[in-house]
Amino acid sequence: MPDRIVLQGVTARGHHGVLASEKRDGQTFLVDVTMMLDLEPAGRTDALGATVNYAEVAGDVVARITGPSFDLIERLAEVIADDVLRHDLVHTVEVVVHKPEAPVGHPFTDVQVRVTRTNAAQVVIALGTNLGDRAHTLTDAVAALTALPGMTVTGVSDIVATDPVGGPDQPEFLNAVVVGRSLLHPTDLLAELHRIEADHGRTRDVRWGARTLDLDLVQYGRPGGHREVVRDDARLTLPHPRAHERAFVLVPWLAVDPRASLRVGEGRHGIRPVEDLLEGLDRSGVRPGPAWEQL
Ligand code: ATP
Ligand code: CA
Ligand code: CA
Repeated sequence: MPDRIVLQGVTARGHHGVLASEKRDGQTFLVDVTMMLDLEPAGRTDALGATVNYAEVAGDVVARITGPSFDLIERLAEVIADDVLRHDLVHTVEVVVHKPEAPVGHPFTDVQVRVTRTNAAQVVIALGTNLGDRAHTLTDAVAALTALPGMTVTGVSDIVATDPVGGPDQPEFLNAVVVGRSLLHPTDLLAELHRIEADHGRTRDVRWGARTLDLDLVQYGRPGGHREVVRDDARLTLPHPRAHERAFVLVPWLAVDPRASLRVGEGRHGIRPVEDLLEGLDRSGVRPGPAWEQL
């Protein structure tokens, strides 16, 4: 049996449910989290850094239970699994959400939703378009990424409208950032991104020129985590060498992942919160764009 940490019965009041009364009055939710990870390093070193801090996980679970209301406990279980998989050491997580006071209409003791999710590298993809039917292209590109085998989209940012930076005179961009988990090797993922670009009529004539669709792989694997890929190769440089200086990437990224961090140098000190990186940047060229629902 593989090693695991089991955190059981984390309890808090939340407002999840389809009924208005559930959203108004709230009820008790219990969550069990089972994290599969190799515990031998922690067992040998006695170091907290070699394992997952279950107190931190419990705090994240409570924040989700008491946080914004979802209709379904399926959704609650999914976001809790996403949170746990942010810990790179965890390779598989099982989350059980219990809702013992659910309005079932008959005597019952418990109802639970159980999901198992496997970790893959966390990936960040920046989308940009300033030619053609931009809104349509963005919607299509997100759908194509979502449909990609081996890729799970976990978050899509709001759209921002941005002034072009560098390159020739050209129209305004729409930009967005997609975060997800990928089982694809980074170069295979980039090949898929290029294929999706080509499907949308992307051509490469003028460097930094206008384009129907640009998909950049900003980061592969959490910085400092064991799935992180750092490479200095012109065909695929990771992390993307210019992402850290681009407000049109960092603004939507931070919006979809407030805890995002990006490597800008070597070692532990080379990892910087995206929030801090943004502080030094001029954000005046980045404005709220159209809402997805309006496209
Ligand atoms: P920029 O990279 O400054 O955003 P761009 O997106 O306009 O510029 P492209 O013409 O789309 O540049 O890509 C040029 C080359 O960059 C591609 O052939 C691709 O192989 C390479 N490349 C290297 N690293 C990456 C990366 N992290 N994401 C996407 N493409 C990359
Ligand atoms: Ca680009
Ligand atoms: Ca590109």
